[in-house]
Amino acid sequence: MNPVRGHKVKGSNGMKLGSTQNFLMNCAFGNVDLVRRQKIIVAGRVQGVGFRPAVYGIAHLLGLSGFVYNDTKGVIIELQGGDEKIAEFLVRLQSESEKHPLAEIKSCETIDIAVIEAEDKFTIKASDSQGTAMSQVTADIATCRDCLTEMADKNDFRYGYPFISCTNCGPRYSIVKNIPYDRTNTTMSAFEMCDKCAAQYSDITDRRFHAQPVACGKCGPKLWLTNNRGKTIETQMDKVITETTCLLQDGKIVAIKGLGGFHLAVDALNNEAVKRLRERKRRDHKPFAMMADCIEKIKQYAIVSEQAERLLKGPQSPIVLLPNKKNSSIAPSVTERVGTYGFMLCYAPLHYLLFAQKLKVLVMTSGNISDEPLICKNEQALERLGDVADAFLMHDREIYRQIDDSIVHIIDGEPALLRRARGYVPAPIFIKEDCRQDIFAAGADLKNTFCFGKQNQLICSEHIGDLEDAEVYHHYIDSIEHLRKLFEVEPKVIACDLHPGYLSTRYALSLSGLRVIEVQHHWAHIASVLAEKGIAGPVIGLAADGTGYGTDGAIWGCECLIASLDDFERFGHLAYYALAGGDRASKEAIRPMLGLLKKTYGNDFKPDRFGWLLEQIEADANKQNIILEQVEKQINTVETSSLGRVFDAVAAMLGLGTYNHFEAQLPMALEVIIASDVEERYDFELIAQPSEPLQLDLRKMVKQLICDIQKKLSVNVISAKFHNCLAAALLEMAEQARESKKLNTVALSGGVFCNRYLANRLVKLLKKNNFRVLFNRDVPSNDGGISLGQTAIAANLVKHQV
Ligand SMILES: [Zn+2]
Ligand SMILES: [Zn+2]
Repeated sequence: MNPVRGHKVKGSNGMKLGSTQNFLMNCAFGNVDLVRRQKIIVAGRVQGVGFRPAVYGIAHLLGLSGFVYNDTKGVIIELQGGDEKIAEFLVRLQSESEKHPLAEIKSCETIDIAVIEAEDKFTIKASDSQGTAMSQVTADIATCRDCLTEMADKNDFRYGYPFISCTNCGPRYSIVKNIPYDRTNTTMSAFEMCDKCAAQYSDITDRRFHAQPVACGKCGPKLWLTNNRGKTIETQMDKVITETTCLLQDGKIVAIKGLGGFHLAVDALNNEAVKRLRERKRRDHKPFAMMADCIEKIKQYAIVSEQAERLLKGPQSPIVLLPNKKNSSIAPSVTERVGTYGFMLCYAPLHYLLFAQKLKVLVMTSGNISDEPLICKNEQALERLGDVADAFLMHDREIYRQIDDSIVHIIDGEPALLRRARGYVPAPIFIKEDCRQDIFAAGADLKNTFCFGKQNQLICSEHIGDLEDAEVYHHYIDSIEHLRKLFEVEPKVIACDLHPGYLSTRYALSLSGLRVIEVQHHWAHIASVLAEKGIAGPVIGLAADGTGYGTDGAIWGCECLIASLDDFERFGHLAYYALAGGDRASKEAIRPMLGLLKKTYGNDFKPDRFGWLLEQIEADANKQNIILEQVEKQINTVETSSLGRVFDAVAAMLGLGTYNHFEAQLPMALEVIIASDVEERYDFELIAQPSEPLQLDLRKMVKQLICDIQKKLSVNVISAKFHNCLAAALLEMAEQARESKKLNTVALSGGVFCNRYLANRLVKLLKKNNFRVLFNRDVPSNDGGISLGQTAIAANLVKHQV
């Protein structure tokens, strides 16, 4: 420990420590020999992260007496000794607590209290409570440096042990069955610690003090390899590892049980093997994530910014989306028409052991069939993935709660989550005022997450998936109950989407006897930004989205809302166009395309005039006529302001495809072809009508775009002009809102902002025009963030009404 290092008096992650700083200033003038007693209240992420042993260690070293315990609000320390020693303690606490990757001190308050005469030592009061239910369970963390060093050390008793972990790393959330967070309530209860492990577990000065997953080769979980029928091929640890890597090098598909579930692994440089995985997994087009064991390797294939490197190496170890290098040797079928690679570094000891056998890069995709929930049980894996994987690398540390890899990308130079799961969940979002009643928010149907509000914490679930899949829906229901129990939440208020057809809404409404608050989809999007930033609004909210149910029964999707947590006003939106065919409209680009063309050309729109354009759409003439008739007569159509569908239509017009095999496939194809350095854009109009929201009219844009296609202008330039037009239109909308409402803060959210080009360009434009810009960082800007927004709105309503 170096006390000089501690002189930067700030919390981990750069949080300012106001009261500590004041205290230290006071100390400079104090009497050195004076014995005093102080009560120190530390708030933030300080439970379940080895904080109390760190406190004990420093107090012991400095000869201070007193005690430490967990409290509902954080950690309470009573400290007695000389002024200078106490001051040094506070400084060292910052640097010591920084050792744990997840520790984060938000505030540190000190109060002078009466000296206790007969006290001579420092103790951890374990008896009190172990902390709140919500704070005990932390996220799963990537293997730490210390553990990796031990694993590589031939003299260490955990040499080569694939389940090595300590207080600073390893599984948490995925192995917890119940609280209190003790070994007996985790799946590690099946293993009795050997004497060596037990000694470390109970030694307060040890890195493994109370680390629940502590184990070694003698007492802990074991590995084995089976064929795809479950017949054991190998059980000896080192041979299992070498045999698995041989299979992978041979182009075989191996299901590998990891931290949060099974991965399907295959050599990412072997195109035939990757194609085979694609066919067997019934995943036609969606890009696969990849894993490597060092950053240098990733840099061979992708462009890694400093920010991206920090993320990749961080304790959460997410998949980071990186621009791919041209002509990289990654198999083409890993990603198709996407322009980015999703890479992560090894995060479990087992991954490192496999890669140590000269593996290059692996595809590591979720072990499931198409979009079903991730598989985490051994028997289920054999049953469901027996036809996909050639072999199974199994272990007997049960995963109680499956959790996907998280996905992050970089917007305006900062990380923004696209899928929030392993490493991030269940870390709460803190709010300033306590929820008066416990809240449950059901989320949205696509990319579902749900959320609980309790006290000053909003706890979002991990990514659950698309609820229309029956398996995912069951998983959703089970998960709600598991997390409700785990965090001891007793919801009195329910929040859900306004969409009457959402399964999540129906589930929420089925919970009888509870108050239900229905929240408009795009308001929830904007509220998710407000909740993250800890502000109440009002702000200018720009929601650029696929679809969400509007208060007028139309399907909204490109909205300018003057929004706070109290309420919202629809200031402007994309002018409605007709969308035929309900659910299929989000898959088949012909539907929004015909709707937009009809809107643009009115009665002049005749299919024969646009024959050249319609030819490239795979729908047959008959189908086109039916859709057109629907649009004209408004049969089975909805009025929509969806921006996502405009992307679909434009992608189809440019011949980039006609069908979204996975969500936003066509918009992604449109993004990837954008020509760089094009500043030109198409025209748009904002139409103001008395007592109506402002209308964004894109008819000029559509006409100019069609014209460019006819002129055979490059699709790359057309795509750039299209994106630039939308960025300019959204900026103009914000300008008019600023003028009219005297607001200067813009919050951006919605699935369309997963488009990096549009998001980056708009943020830059807004900042250049002196707006304060808020963007989703901690939760996805897509529907994965909806539940947080719903909870924040409900918490705010209840605050005013109870
Ligand atoms: Zn460790
Ligand atoms: Zn052991």
